[in-house]
Amino acid sequence: GVKVGVLALQGDVAEHITAFHDALADRPGSSVVVVRTAADLADLDALAIPGGESTTISRLIGKNGLYEPLAGFEGGIFATCAGMVLIADRVDDPRVRPLSLIPMHVARNAFGRQVDSREAMLEVAGLAEPFRGVFIRAPVATGVGSDVEVLARIPEGIVAVRHGRHMAFAFHPELGGDLRLHRMFLAGLGV
Ligand code: GLN
Repeated sequence: GVKVGVLALQGDVAEHITAFHDALADRPGSSVVVVRTAADLADLDALAIPGGESTTISRLIGKNGLYEPLAGFEGGIFATCAGMVLIADRVDDPRVRPLSLIPMHVARNAFGRQVDSREAMLEVAGLAEPFRGVFIRAPVATGVGSDVEVLARIPEGIVAVRHGRHMAFAFHPELGGDLRLHRMFLAGLGV
């Protein structure tokens, strides 16, 4: 089975737990657990970093002594929205200390104040049919390292990437019940 943790400091933790629980339904012996301490990271094959408020999550990562354990995490990371901000290596907001797990530059709240949230049908590399992306005060990647695979982009910027076992999304694949990106991520773990 596969053991997936969900970083549970702030954000849409329950939605990530449900989505991975459903995506793992056909893999006996799998489990989804919440992560609040470094000890909770032991034995995980993968970790989800949820959407929420990246400045708050960053502060709580520091307060809970999780910065080094997360920066050194060896499993795959599935990062959405605020998670995409946290997993980058450069962020346009000094209140976020990024984990530098994916070489990319991320701009927070990239859609401007007028457009808090929106949906867009996205062409995602590796998916046969478009994916409905739900964007909520979403970031975009403004540049990525040469070893980062861009999976989807919109006019505002890059909104889905893969880097080794890690994947990051500006939108929320954990909302809406379409688990194709979760399955793509799990297939890439090699477990
Ligand atoms: N705007 C938030 C941030 O930068 C992300 C929003 C979200 O995760 N839905 O932290």
